[in-house]
Amino acid sequence: MSLTAPADRVKQLPPYLFAAIDTMKDEARARGEDLIDFGIGDPDRPTPDHIVHALRDAAGRPELHRYPAYAGSLACRQAAAAFYAARFGVELDPHGEILTLIGSKDGISHLPLAITNPGDLALVPDPAYPVYATTTRFVGGEVHTFGLLPDREFLPDLEQIPEAVARQAKMIYVNYPNNPTGGVARLEDLERILAFARRHDLLVISDLAYSEMYLDEQTPPPSFLQLEGARERCIEFYSLSKTYNMTGWRVGFAVGNAELVRALGKIKTNMDSGVFGVVQQAAIAALKGDQRCVAAMRAVYRERRDLLVQGLQQLGLQVRPQRATFYLFVRVPDGTSSMDYAGRLMRELGIVVTPGVGFGERGEGFVRFSLTVETARIAQAVERMKRLG
Ligand SMILES: *Cc1c(COP(=O)(O)O)cnc(C)c1O
Repeated sequence: MSLTAPADRVKQLPPYLFAAIDTMKDEARARGEDLIDFGIGDPDRPTPDHIVHALRDAAGRPELHRYPAYAGSLACRQAAAAFYAARFGVELDPHGEILTLIGSKDGISHLPLAITNPGDLALVPDPAYPVYATTTRFVGGEVHTFGLLPDREFLPDLEQIPEAVARQAKMIYVNYPNNPTGGVARLEDLERILAFARRHDLLVISDLAYSEMYLDEQTPPPSFLQLEGARERCIEFYSLSKTYNMTGWRVGFAVGNAELVRALGKIKTNMDSGVFGVVQQAAIAALKGDQRCVAAMRAVYRERRDLLVQGLQQLGLQVRPQRATFYLFVRVPDGTSSMDYAGRLMRELGIVVTPGVGFGERGEGFVRFSLTVETARIAQAVERMKRLG
């Protein structure tokens, strides 16, 4: 074997579909095509001004230029605690139950190093954000997937998990509001998952990246930690990325069970040096500031969703308006694969969507439209799609 060949874990990575799509996109752009890109889960609007100003002010403070505290500044953790108290009614101890992260992906991806031994089994939704399964396998953990299916509103089909598998498993990953399906869980749905976790003695890993991106809900999506007893077994990941259009800034939190939070913190202490203090000041401004900017983004996504749903339905596609997230999970016409359909949209119409199969085999039959495109472009995309027949 060649000296420079990558480690087995690199070779075992599934082919990254998104990279193939990026190549196709680059080629189309190089040909001068006008692409309408529904492919990326990255807010198109800028970060709100008051957050940008906080960053500018903080940038001039030399004490923030040095290595930050590993867990994040106390002020930043207190801001997260205040946010959780106000938003979810959940009281968190900033001294043990909150860890600042370099974006929630930092915490999600490093968590297996902290809690997963070789051979440990994780229950992972399918379709899902690919990081849960990939990083579990990085540390020699095993993955059993359970389906999130449209006829169950993309809630976990826990009864389908064989008893012996559930008994063997150590943890379950949960992500509501859900990427890529747009599914939402009410508190009673989370209660059912917690009861399952309790019955089988599982840790619960909750990814709450989209909690504020609810579009129709009378009651905003809950945190797992609202449930009685959740703190015994749950770690939850909160992200500022989607809520405040801050994906590039890299800041989020792990909250919940103190032992889990501490273990993750220990791993990170050995791998990175925390979130830039200036960015932490911006995060404080976001969490403590006026939340009307978030409501305004919800209104933007709602308008885009309604426009796209109406357009796609008129084209005869099967789609239901999602109640949260900025993703529309759309069934592809019968007899087409999600990859073929996405390929056709790109090649023939210059429209970029993400094939559902990129999120797992049960995502086959769907493509994901990300509503991070202005309404005029959405209307244009629908016009183009009329040509597809
Ligand atoms: C965007 C996203 C994240 C990661 O967000 P960060 O920018 O790393 O905070 C985590 N989970 C899901 C499901 C996401 O879509």
